[in-house]
Amino acid sequence: MFTVPEFTALQTAIARVREEDVLSALRGDRIGIQGLAALLSPLAEPHLPAMAARAAFLTEQRFGRTIQMYAPVYLSSYCANRCAYCGFSADNTIDRRVLTFAEAEAEAMILHQRGFQHLLLVSGEAPAKVGVDYLEEIARRLRDRFAALSIEVQPLATGEYARLFRAGITSVAVYQETYDREVYKQVHLAGRKADFDHRLDTPARAAAAGMREVGIGALLGLADWRAEGLALGLHLAWLRKHFWRTGLTVSFPRMRPAEGEFKPLKPVAERNLSQMIFALRIFDPDVGLYLSTREEARYRDGMIGLGPTRYSAGSCTAPGGYGLADAGGEQFEVGDSRSLAEVSAAIQAKGFDPVRKDWDAVFQAKGVRQEAA
Ligand code: SF4
Repeated sequence: MFTVPEFTALQTAIARVREEDVLSALRGDRIGIQGLAALLSPLAEPHLPAMAARAAFLTEQRFGRTIQMYAPVYLSSYCANRCAYCGFSADNTIDRRVLTFAEAEAEAMILHQRGFQHLLLVSGEAPAKVGVDYLEEIARRLRDRFAALSIEVQPLATGEYARLFRAGITSVAVYQETYDREVYKQVHLAGRKADFDHRLDTPARAAAAGMREVGIGALLGLADWRAEGLALGLHLAWLRKHFWRTGLTVSFPRMRPAEGEFKPLKPVAERNLSQMIFALRIFDPDVGLYLSTREEARYRDGMIGLGPTRYSAGSCTAPGGYGLADAGGEQFEVGDSRSLAEVSAAIQAKGFDPVRKDWDAVFQAKGVRQEAA
C-alpha cells in the first residue's frame, strides 16, 4: 500500500533545495524525486521559461501535437460526505437530483451530438443513490456509443471496479484532495471520505481491478501546493512501479467558487499552477495531464503545448445541466464556458490537433476476453 510521508517532511525536502539542484534537474534526461522537489521549489521560479520549454519538448515527444477532448456528465448531486469546500456537501441546501437512466442517456447523447467521444461520468459520493448497479447500467447503455467512459465517483472496492470495467468503464479518477493529513481532517468533516488512508489506497484498487487508466490529483487551494506536487509525484511513481500496465494521469483542480462560500486556505496563483504542471511533466514525461474548464480560457489557451494533454470543453457541473429544464445545483462555477468547437479552434490555432477519439471499445472487449481466458 502506498504511504505518503508527513507533509512537513515533504516541505522540508523542498526547503533544502539548492540552486545547483534546480540547474541539474533542468539539465538531466530523467529526474527522480529529488529533481521534482527542486523544480517545485521557490528557487526554480526564475527558471519557469526553461521549465516550460523542457515540458513542451517532452509533451510533443511523447504525445505529438495533440490534446484529447472530453466532457463531464454529472449524474447526481447527492453526497453523504461533508467536505467544507464543495457545493455538493451534505451540509449545503441545494436542489439535488439523481438522473434516471433515461435522463443520463439523454444528457450523454447531447454531448455525443456536440461531437464528444470521451465522457467522464461524475457524481457526489452517495452509494445509496448512485451505487455500482446504477453505474453498471449506465455504462452498458452508453458503451457502444462512446469511445471511452471514465468515472469520478465514490471510492469502490477492487471487485466493484472490475465489474464496472466489464460493463464498459475504462478509467477511474479519484483525487486525494490534499496529502496533508492535518488539513484533510479539517476539511473532511464527516462521511466515508474522512478516512484518509482508504481514499489514498483507492487508485491502487482501481488499477488492480484492471482499469486501463487511473487518475490522481490534489485540490489546489487546501494546502502548500509545492508539497502537494511532491506527494503527487511520489504517488505517481509508486503506481507506475506497482501497476506498470495502467495508464496514469494527474489533474490539477484549482478551487473555484462554490455553494458554501469556502475560501481557499492556501491560494494557488496561475504562475504556481504552471510551475507544478511543468515540474510533473518533466518528472514523468508519459503521464497524461488534465487541465479542465475550472481554469479560464486565457490561461488554458496559454498552456496549450506546454504539458497538459487533456482538455474538457462545454462543461456543466450540474446533473441534467445540458438538457433538462429542472437541472440540479452546480458543484462549482466553471472558468471557461466555451464550446467544444471554440476550444478546438483555439487548439488548432496553436498548431495542435484536438482529438475526439483515441480509444475504441473493441480494445476493451479484447481485454475482457483475455481476462476471462
Ligand atoms: S467533494 Fe465529493 S465527496 Fe466531498 S462533498 Fe463534494 S461531491 Fe461529496
